[in-house]
Amino acid sequence: MSLLMEKLNDAQKEAACEIDRHVRIVAGAGSGKTSVLMARIEYLINELGIWPNRIMAITFTNKAAQEMKDRLASAIGFEDARHVRISTIHSLCARILREDSEAANLPKNFTIMDTEDQKTLLRPIFKELSTNMDEITHGQAVGYISSNKTGKVSPQMAQDMAHNQRFKQLADVYEEYEKRRQEMKAVDFDDLLLETEKLLKNDEEVRTKWQNRLDFIHVDEFQDIDPIQYQIIKSLVREDANLCVVGDPDQTIYTWRGASVDIILQFHNDFKPCHTVILNENYRSTQNILSAANEVIENNSKRIKKDLFTKLGEGEKITLYEAQEEEREPMYIARQINELSRAGIPYKDMAILYRSNYLSRNVEKVLRSIHIPHRIYGGIRYYDRAEIKDVLSYLRLLAAPDENDPKRKSLDLAVLRVINQPKRGIGARTIEKLSEEARKRDMNLLDVMGNSQTLSPAASKKAQKFYETIQELKDEMKTCELPDLIDAILDYTGYEDMLLEAKEDERLENVKELKQDLALALQNDPNTTLESYLQDISLYTDKNRDDEESDNMVSLMTVHAAKGTEFPVVFISGFNEDVFPSRRSIEEGGAAALEEERRLLYVAMTRAKQRLFITWNNGINFIDRTHRRPSRFLQELTEEYIVDDSRSESSEEQNSNQKTNTHSTKANSALRNRKARRGVHYRKGDKVDHTIYGEGVIVSVDKDIASIAFPYPIGTKKINTNHPTLSKV
Ligand code: ATP
Ligand code: MG
Repeated sequence: MSLLMEKLNDAQKEAACEIDRHVRIVAGAGSGKTSVLMARIEYLINELGIWPNRIMAITFTNKAAQEMKDRLASAIGFEDARHVRISTIHSLCARILREDSEAANLPKNFTIMDTEDQKTLLRPIFKELSTNMDEITHGQAVGYISSNKTGKVSPQMAQDMAHNQRFKQLADVYEEYEKRRQEMKAVDFDDLLLETEKLLKNDEEVRTKWQNRLDFIHVDEFQDIDPIQYQIIKSLVREDANLCVVGDPDQTIYTWRGASVDIILQFHNDFKPCHTVILNENYRSTQNILSAANEVIENNSKRIKKDLFTKLGEGEKITLYEAQEEEREPMYIARQINELSRAGIPYKDMAILYRSNYLSRNVEKVLRSIHIPHRIYGGIRYYDRAEIKDVLSYLRLLAAPDENDPKRKSLDLAVLRVINQPKRGIGARTIEKLSEEARKRDMNLLDVMGNSQTLSPAASKKAQKFYETIQELKDEMKTCELPDLIDAILDYTGYEDMLLEAKEDERLENVKELKQDLALALQNDPNTTLESYLQDISLYTDKNRDDEESDNMVSLMTVHAAKGTEFPVVFISGFNEDVFPSRRSIEEGGAAALEEERRLLYVAMTRAKQRLFITWNNGINFIDRTHRRPSRFLQELTEEYIVDDSRSESSEEQNSNQKTNTHSTKANSALRNRKARRGVHYRKGDKVDHTIYGEGVIVSVDKDIASIAFPYPIGTKKINTNHPTLSKV
C-alpha cells in the first residue's frame, strides 16, 4: 500500500478514497484532516493514475503550501509532486489573473500591493483630506476599505451609508484610495480575489478553460473560507469534477476578515452528492492536553459539540507558570527549553507562541542572551525592526563620549541612520559635503553638523538644528530617568509625530516597548547605564552569533501563524488579560470576538503533542504604569489537567507559600515576593544561583548590589540581591 495511506484508520481511508462523491471532512484538531488530503492526492496519482497537474490543493499559508509540497515529494517523488497544483488561494488568483489579464482588463504585469503598499498609498490621501483625521489610523482605514470591498460595498454606497463624520471621512478615503489604485493599475489582496471571482463569473471561456484543467480539487482549513473565496472555488469545479474540503469549525480564527463557518456547515447543500466524514480520534496530543483544550472550547456558546479522543495516553499535565516579574517569564521558558534539550529533545521540536508580534521582544532577548537558537516565523526580530534601530541610533548619539574623543567617529553610522528620520530636508548632496568636510577636518559627522564651514547657510541651519536637538536631549538626560529618555527622544526629534502622522500604530507600540526594556534593565541592575545597555543590546543584534543556518531551532510565532502546525513541546507565553484575549479585539468585536479569542486559544493548545506550558507575568507595564494580570481564560483550565510550576523556582518562596492555591490571582504576591527576599543576606564568598548565568560566587556587596563572579565566558556581573533571578545555594 502507498506510503501516506498506510497509516490511516478506516474512516480516514474512506475519506481519502471516496471519488464518486464530493467529500467534506469536519473534524477536530489533530484528527488527521491534512494527512487525509495528502494521502488522497497520493492515492489519486499512484493508484488511479491521475495526472498530477489535474489535481489542485488550496492551503491557507505559504508555509503550509511548502510543507505539503515537501511531504508529497517524499511520498511520490519530486517530479510528480511538482506538478500538483498546490498553492494558497491568493497565489492561485494571481496566476489566473496573469494568464488571462486581458479578459480581466488588467495589464499583464499588474502590481500586487501588500498591506505596507496600501499604507504608502494612504499617506498622501490622509494628508490631502486632513480635516480632523487624527482619530483614524492607517490600519483602521485599511480594515475599513477591505471590509467594504469584500462586502461589495462601493465607495458611493459607503458614502450613502456613512452615518457620522468619522464614517464620512473613511468613505472619502476609500473613494480616493480606489481612484489612485486603479490609476496605478495595481491590485490589493482583496482585489486579487474580487477580480478573479468576477472574471470566472462573467467570462465563460476562461471559466471553462480552468474547469477543464481540474478533476480533483482540495481545500484545507475550509473553516476559514470567506464567501468570495468560496465563490471562486465553486466556479472552478466542473459538473463532473470532485471537490474535497476539510476543516474544523472550532478553529475558525479569521471571522474578523470575513471568514464564515456557515460555509463548511452548509457545504452539502451546494455540492451533491456529498459524503461527510467525521473523524474523532486525535493523533497529535496526549489526553491531558486534549481534554483541557476541549473543555476550554466548550465555553463557546456557538459551536457544534464534538467528541474528540486520543489513545496517546494521559501524558504530562499542562504546566502553568506565573512570573511575578516580566523577565522571569522568558527566563522560565528558557530554562525549560534547556532542560528539555539536555533530556534529548531537539530545539526544532519546540515552539513558543504568542498573541501579537510585539510580544516576541522579551522572549527573543533571553533566548539570544543564552544562545538558544531560534527562528521567528512571519515577522522580523524585535531588535531588527527599522523603528527600533532608529531609536537605538538616537540613544547611541546620546551615549557618545565627549568631543575630541577618537571614539566619536563611530557615531557616523548612527547619524546617517537617523539624519532624515523623521525627514529634515537634509539632501544627499549635503550629506556628501558633510562627510567630506568631516574627513578633511578629521572630525565626526555630528560635530561637523554643529559648525559646518562648507555648507550653504540654509543647509547649515538644518544640520545645526539636528546637532542642537541631540544637545538638548543630552541636557535632558542629565536629569531624567533612563527609561524616560525614550519619551524625550520620541518627542524632541519628532519621531513620535512622524509615526502618528503615518498612522504607524504597530511601530509606535514597538518603540514604546523599548521603554519597558530599559526599565527592566534598570530594575535588573540599578547600575545600568546607557552605555552598558547599548553594549548589551549589540550582543543581541550581532548576526554572527546566530546559527541561522541550522535547522535545529526553536520556532517563535503568533498563534495565527501556527495554524495547522504541530510541535512536541509548545509554550504559550504572554497569557495575560488584555493580551490574550486581546483588549483591542474585544473592544472592537464584543462577545463574538471573545469567542474568536477562545478559538485562538484552542488552536494554540492543540498545537502541542506532548508538553504544553502556559506562562504569564504579573510584572509592571512601564508604559501605562499598570500591573499585569493573568488571562481570564485561566479560569477555564480545569484543575485536573494542570500543574502549577510557579513556586518551584525559588525555595524560600515555597516555604512561605506552601498552601497557596494553584492558580488564583495573587495581586500582592509580587510585593510579598520582594519582602521575602529582603530577608536574605548576601555576603562576600556566598555561593549563589542565577536563573540565567548559573552558579557564581559573590566577590563583594555594596548595599543591595552584589558583584558576582560567574564562570568564563560570563565574568563578573553586578546584580541586585533583591532580584528574583538570584538565590543562595
Ligand atoms: P489541524 O486541525 O491542526 O490542522 P489535522 O486534522 O490536519 O490538524 P494532521 O496534521 O493531519 O491533523 O495530523 C495530526 C498528526 O496526527 C500528524 O502528526 C499526523 O501524522 C498524525 N496522524 C494522522 N492520522 C494518523 C493515523 N491514522 N495514525 C497515526 N498518526 C496519524
Ligand atoms: Mg491540518
